[in-house]
Amino acid sequence: MCQWDGCTEKGAHRAPVGRNAEGSFFLFCFEHVKEYNKGYNYFSGLSDSEIARYQKEAITGHRPTWTVGVNGAARSSPLHANIHSAQANGRLKDPFGFVRQTRAGGGPAPRERKLKTLEAKAFDTLGLAANATPKDIKSRYKELVKKHHPDANGGDRGSEERFRAVIQAYQLLKQEGFC
Ligand SMILES: [Zn+2]
Repeated sequence: MCQWDGCTEKGAHRAPVGRNAEGSFFLFCFEHVKEYNKGYNYFSGLSDSEIARYQKEAITGHRPTWTVGVNGAARSSPLHANIHSAQANGRLKDPFGFVRQTRAGGGPAPRERKLKTLEAKAFDTLGLAANATPKDIKSRYKELVKKHHPDANGGDRGSEERFRAVIQAYQLLKQEGFC
C-alpha cells in the first residue's frame, strides 16, 4: 500500500526516508514516488514562517524529540519505515534532524546563553553575568583562585570551600564551552 496520505494504490516504489535514516524507505505508488522525490527537500511545502521557525529553533538549539519510530521500528524493518509522508516533509516535527543538516555547511549553531541551573550557578559563583566573555571568565577565575587559595588564607575553612566552588564553577563553564 502506498504510504502517501490517503492513497490506496499499490506501494511498489521505494523512496529514501532521509539522511539520518539511511537504509529506510517509504513505499509509494508511481505517481507519489515522483511527487515525493520532487519534494525531497524537506523545506518544500513549508511556508516561510515555518522555515523561519525551524531556523530559529536551530539557533536556540531546540531539538524535537524523535517520536516516529525510525530509530526503533524501522531499524528492524529497513525497507518499510513506519512513518508517514506528512512527517517526512517535516510538517510535524524534525524526525530526521534536518535542522542540523541545514547548518552543516554553516558550522555549529551559535550557542544560546539560556543557562541550565548549574551554569547559572557557576556564573553566580564567579560573580559574573551570564553574558561574560571567555576572557572575563578566565581572568575572574584566576583572580578568585588567587584570592581564595588556602595558602593565602592560612587554611581558613570557609575560604577553602569557596576555592573549591570557584574551581568547580570554572570547570563546568569550560566543559560547556563558555570559555
Ligand atoms: Zn500513492
